Amino acid sequence: MTILVTGGLGFIGSNFVISHLKKYPADEVVVLDNFSYAANSSNLNGYHEDWRLNIRKVDICNYEFLEHMYHDYEPHITFNFAAESHVDNSIVGDDNFVNTNIVGTHNILKCVKKFGGKLVHVSTDEVFGSLSHDDPPFNESTPYNPRNPYSATKASSDHLVRSYVNTHGIEAVVTNCSNNYGPRQHSEKFIPTVIRNIKNNTPIPVYGNGTNVRDWLFVEDHCEALLTIGEKFKKGERYNIGGGHEMSNLELVTLILDLMGKPVNMYQNWINFVTDRKGHDFRYAMDSSKIYKELGWFAKTKINEGLLKTLEWYNA
Ligand code: NAD
Repeated sequence: MTILVTGGLGFIGSNFVISHLKKYPADEVVVLDNFSYAANSSNLNGYHEDWRLNIRKVDICNYEFLEHMYHDYEPHITFNFAAESHVDNSIVGDDNFVNTNIVGTHNILKCVKKFGGKLVHVSTDEVFGSLSHDDPPFNESTPYNPRNPYSATKASSDHLVRSYVNTHGIEAVVTNCSNNYGPRQHSEKFIPTVIRNIKNNTPIPVYGNGTNVRDWLFVEDHCEALLTIGEKFKKGERYNIGGGHEMSNLELVTLILDLMGKPVNMYQNWINFVTDRKGHDFRYAMDSSKIYKELGWFAKTKINEGLLKTLEWYNA
């Protein structure tokens, strides 16, 4: 089989490429990435000479070039990770978010409609909005309520995918996952920032009062979920993929300090509370029971175990 992975030089995409090549040694993987600031070709170190891997510099916003790729490679299945993915950047300027996340996804849909093959579109729990402490977690029927430009563009792309399934009958699935962590994540994101500051003995910037809650998913568990969805593909389905580890930012920082051998009773000394993110969603939480019941997947990695693997990756 030929697998097309957009955004395969980014955090989750590169972990997915490696998981795929390990699990299916006979498959060929074509990575399409525009080599943006978020791409890191060393994420695929150890695989650059592998005949099964082909990395192409392609912007998914360029329809003609993308169409050539589909014509040349005839992928059996596309995993779409390519996106502008950092909420903070979308608050400063959102043009690239609209282009890549909406127009780019639309281009992929046109190619899948024209050339066939399946599509797994990777999206986020942020499309569902924000929960209070007592709200039940998001499930697949939760109405969309995106509240920042990043999540609004991801929500738009999800709607486009579902509309192409309904209108044109393409074979696509939408997945919404919670916050990922693990090896190969860009330094701009929260956990790499925490680790870097602790390593450098510098204060850790934490938004607001640090009580915002996220549901942390180890990236390798996420990749396993996506491989399972590809194997047991059911056209038109949606799956919520959560890690089952809800933690406030303060709890997370304290745990990382502990795992890095720092005294946790002094945790306040490490934290620099900074002005809260505009429109900051308070809590995300995922109900992953559908993917467990239908496909047998559940997140296996405990948070301590996943964080220790992450620390090892960052030599911390
Ligand atoms: P990332 O920013 O680390 O990687 C994105 C990759 O896409 C980069 O390699 C970048 O160069 C590439 N890219 C960007 N624009 C492109 C374009 N126009 N054409 C081709 N390639 C382009 O992101 P990530 O954290 O790996 O996220 C992957 C996907 O998962 C995204 O769709 C994101 O919305 C979703 N997601 C991520 C998280 C998370 O916690 N990281 C959580 C939920 C959903």
